[in-house]
Amino acid sequence: MDGVLVVGAGPVGLTAACQLARLGITVRVVDALATPTTESRAVGVHARSLEMLAALGVLPALEARGRRIGVLAMTDGRSGDTRARIPVGDIASRHPYVLDIPQPDTEAVLADRAAELGVAVERGTRLTALAQDGEGVTVTLAGPEGERTEQVGWVVGADGGHSTTRHLLGTHLEGAFHGQHFAMADVDVDTSLTRDTIWMFTHPEGMGIHFPLAGDRARVMFLVEEPTADAPTLAEIQSLADARMGGRLRVRDPRWLAYFEVHHAQVPQYRHGRVLLAGDAAHIHSPAGAQGMNTGMQDAANLAWKLALVVHGRADARLLDSYHDERHPVGAAVVRKTTLLTDVGTASGPAGTIRDVALFLVGHVRRVSDAAATQMAELTIGYRDSALSVRHGRHHGDVRAGDHAPDPDGLQRPDGTPVTIEELQATPGFLLLVHGGPGALATTLGDLGTVVAIGRDVLDPEGALARAYGNRDGMVLVRPDGYVGLVADTTDPHVLRRYLADTLGVAVPAVA
Ligand SMILES: Cc1cc2nc3c(=O)[nH]c(=O)nc-3n(C[C@H](O)[C@H](O)[C@H](O)COP(=O)(O)OP(=O)(O)OC[C@H]3O[C@@H](n4cnc5c(N)ncnc54)[C@H](O)[C@@H]3O)c2cc1C
Repeated sequence: MDGVLVVGAGPVGLTAACQLARLGITVRVVDALATPTTESRAVGVHARSLEMLAALGVLPALEARGRRIGVLAMTDGRSGDTRARIPVGDIASRHPYVLDIPQPDTEAVLADRAAELGVAVERGTRLTALAQDGEGVTVTLAGPEGERTEQVGWVVGADGGHSTTRHLLGTHLEGAFHGQHFAMADVDVDTSLTRDTIWMFTHPEGMGIHFPLAGDRARVMFLVEEPTADAPTLAEIQSLADARMGGRLRVRDPRWLAYFEVHHAQVPQYRHGRVLLAGDAAHIHSPAGAQGMNTGMQDAANLAWKLALVVHGRADARLLDSYHDERHPVGAAVVRKTTLLTDVGTASGPAGTIRDVALFLVGHVRRVSDAAATQMAELTIGYRDSALSVRHGRHHGDVRAGDHAPDPDGLQRPDGTPVTIEELQATPGFLLLVHGGPGALATTLGDLGTVVAIGRDVLDPEGALARAYGNRDGMVLVRPDGYVGLVADTTDPHVLRRYLADTLGVAVPAVA
């Protein structure tokens, strides 16, 4: 049984399903909820996720429901003084902005794309038991028709912070379980705060965050003491806004009011044989910085192409170990940084003074604010230390194996129309950029991806690609998740074959 069962139709499960389906894998998605959630939850989609979602073909539909954010501001909630304004517009991405969009809209767009790719979500269906052996996974699913036991090849556990998959594997989140509590509201607002800005307010009683959404809608949240009620009232949200947002916000027409408890923790292993954990099932942390959903969607993108190769019988299952090796450190860093950000937002006394000096630097030194924006956009994430990142020969560019593939302006198709690396990646699979004649490389790569010969298939009249990638000769293999796997100063097909066969463990024919 070769199919993949994705448990959970949240943003992470749906991303995994779309990515797997476009690589030709038979995917089923089950979700315990009879209807999708209406809670706005994670609202900030960052540049690295936008790049992935663009290649998946869903960005226009997301943009139509969201609001572009160009600035992140850190403001003192008592004085109203803005300590730092971090512009996002200059980050090195084709999508230099944050897209604020309610999570149900993100899920709806991804579910539509999954349906286009032939994947339907089986709603009201809950995973209740799981056992695996070398051949597959036996799952028990409780749905509207009752309980049934089935065999599947692989399971992606994307069932959120209270993951049943994780529980059934017998593994646990490890970390800090002194819960932090947030009061959250999805409301319409009247405000003097600019609408192209995510506002983070520091305050000794707890940070506050304002995310503008489309129209008058906004998501606001405040770090609070452990609540005694199930949900805050609108009046309580207003009084928190008055106290911590410099009186610059009137809230009205609530869609969702909730308390949300966060912990900071991660599972020790992402891979358990034929079961892979992703998203909140693998890591949970503070919503400060809006990293959770983004990190989870990137988990899914990293996992999907590897799992597809294994399910197709093209690669050894050991390739899946690299999913843990590459993504676990990323999750660990996110847990660390979001914990720090939440603590910093709440610091007072001498720690608060140090924080304010640091924010002054962030706000006034362009290089520091650019670095902060790049970090927040998840553009610093790469896999240079991964066993899958290989350099062959001498390479004289900035790009290293493990980096995200640069996407410079200035490329053209042979008929003169502009083209981008992102557009080339809309074709599923690997992308092999070759300087000079591709020779036998297309035969070696076979159906694993597309060979693009620079100068023949794509023109680089101003040398933008050569500048961005360094080498004027040789080849660069971009993985299906957009990261560079191999950089080589040669177009020797033996080098490509060795990378595919020895590094990835993919069965490829011998070079003639
Ligand atoms: C109340 C709340 C508020 C949040 N607010 C913010 C925020 O303000 N900012 C932010 O960045 N992040 C926020 N988050 C976190 C954010 O929603 C997650 O990081 C993001 O949704 C992760 O996506 P996911 O797909 O991994 O998990 P989820 O979105 O949680 O999706 C998991 C899915 O699995 C399904 N499921 C669970 N168990 C089973 C089972 N046994 N069988 C089948 N299906 C199952 C669930 O129904 C759900 O649809 C919030 C989360 C919650 C719960």
